[in-house]
Amino acid sequence: VPRRSFWGWGNEEDALAPAERDAVGQMLAARLGGEAPAPIAPPKIDEVTLGAPRFALPASLAHLGHVDARTRAGHAYGKAFRDVARGLARDFAAAPDVVAFPADEDDVRRLLDFCAEARVAAIPYGGGSSVVGGVEARLPASRGFAGALSIDLAKLAGVREVDVASRAARVGGGTLGPALEDALRPHGLTLRHFPQSFEFSTLGGWIATRAGGHFATLATHIDDSVEAVRVVTPTGLCATRRLPASGAGPSPERLFIGSEGALGVVTEAWVRLHERPRFRASATLRYVSFSAACRAARALAQSGLYPTNCRVLDAAEAQNAMQGDGSANLLLVAFESSDHALEPWIARALEIAKGEGAELEQGSYKVKDGGAGAREGAAGAWRQMFLRGPYLRDALVTLGYVVETFETAITWDRFDSFSAAVRERAERVAREVTGGEVVVACRVTHVYPDGAAPYFTVIGKGKGAASMAKQWDEIKAAVSEVIVAEGGTISHHHATGRDHMPGYEKERAEPFARALAAVKRELDPAGVMNPGVLV
Ligand SMILES: Cc1cc2nc3c(=O)[nH]c(=O)nc-3n(C[C@H](O)[C@H](O)[C@H](O)COP(=O)(O)OP(=O)(O)OC[C@H]3O[C@@H](n4cnc5c(N)ncnc54)[C@H](O)[C@@H]3O)c2cc1C
Repeated sequence: VPRRSFWGWGNEEDALAPAERDAVGQMLAARLGGEAPAPIAPPKIDEVTLGAPRFALPASLAHLGHVDARTRAGHAYGKAFRDVARGLARDFAAAPDVVAFPADEDDVRRLLDFCAEARVAAIPYGGGSSVVGGVEARLPASRGFAGALSIDLAKLAGVREVDVASRAARVGGGTLGPALEDALRPHGLTLRHFPQSFEFSTLGGWIATRAGGHFATLATHIDDSVEAVRVVTPTGLCATRRLPASGAGPSPERLFIGSEGALGVVTEAWVRLHERPRFRASATLRYVSFSAACRAARALAQSGLYPTNCRVLDAAEAQNAMQGDGSANLLLVAFESSDHALEPWIARALEIAKGEGAELEQGSYKVKDGGAGAREGAAGAWRQMFLRGPYLRDALVTLGYVVETFETAITWDRFDSFSAAVRERAERVAREVTGGEVVVACRVTHVYPDGAAPYFTVIGKGKGAASMAKQWDEIKAAVSEVIVAEGGTISHHHATGRDHMPGYEKERAEPFARALAAVKRELDPAGVMNPGVLV
């Protein structure tokens, strides 16, 4: 059985081997100048010091709790750069006192009752892949919590019912991506929700964070796939009605989609499914300028063709993804269908894309009917990098590189000036903070008829292991400020957590903030649900 890393991404045995890590380090050193830094040894669990748990679960719940160091340290953080950097610095200060694994909704209810009575913070935990400080026990000191309980939903997992007629399934909140798809495959169905964190994130986590899958258009946010939810709140179970659509008042599901564990625990949901695709078509186009590639993406987004992939990689991002030498900007276009052949779609998409001066990447044009998928060429290589990327990121952190991402969304009218402002600020502040050369790369992950979601990656050589998280915090604060000031959102799909609260507070309207606080008071009167998040 593979063992999950308690400080970094994924399974321990899938981490980069030292030789692979060093080769990547040398490549990066060649881009940034100077030598690759000496690696920091990953932490061992017996090097981790945790305070004694500040509370114990009552006898009736004690069988659900775990207090061993590996379980507590493994639930201390999500999987952002700053989480990995703190892990490498052997800093697990935000570890919960106890981790509970409820087996059913009644266990969840009794755990929440205990938390409210004992003034213990209740932190729902799905796959722990948050990149915004969503699962850590960073508790407001003034609120006098008696400790923190991480509520891991791993046992509330599985596909419980499939309604083939309506193409929907009833799924436990703790179900991880691969288990969900494995259970749907025999029915010829798929949820078609593939965030990069797919392997180690859960349906409940996707719903709680309004996650975005990797498809570029149409139903790519989990929001559109949720038909009904069951949420255990401290004041009772809220189960919504299964309906294909409803005009009866504000949507109750939408109250909980994106609630980030601050209102209750998503124990189950009915989700909308799709037939598995049989037809695929894809192509990669090269552009001299990033703006031309983005103009083509906009034209495609507004064409009504709705490609499944319409991803722009600027030249630096293409190089990060091992696609060429950093001289060309790429547009990856793909279509999928369970119903019809796609030649007319891809042919029209290429016409549109070439209108902005593109060249077709040699050998990249693929049309497959009934095959396993277009996974060769640039698109295939990109997919491999996409899945391997988080392990690579961790390896770079062990080499002392600061490497993190920002993602946001903006309407097309402001896209060019916005992206330029964010890039300029990120480059300037990252150079100041790291004191050296940096790479700032951009890809466009999702396109809409009215705008797009640019995603920036910043890489620089850090100034020492102990202060890496702090260096990133300085870069993050400066770039977050410009994102919100220039009219973007603090997060297109990574959610708010604790890290994005300052930006979120600026972005939302004051009456909405008050209304959300009132909802929280009603559902969570003791204020124990994931304190510090959203409200
Ligand atoms: C390498 C990497 C790639 C990523 N790629 C993507 C991506 O492509 N798209 C994307 O949208 N995000 C991405 N993320 C972010 C993250 O994977 C998502 O936010 C994901 O939805 C979190 O799911 P999870 O099960 O891991 O939740 P967790 O990290 O465990 O929790 C996230 C938040 O949801 C709450 N929560 C979790 N489960 C429940 C529940 N059952 N009920 C109530 N609250 C709950 C937690 O309290 C926390 O606030 C990525 C993260 C990493 C590290």
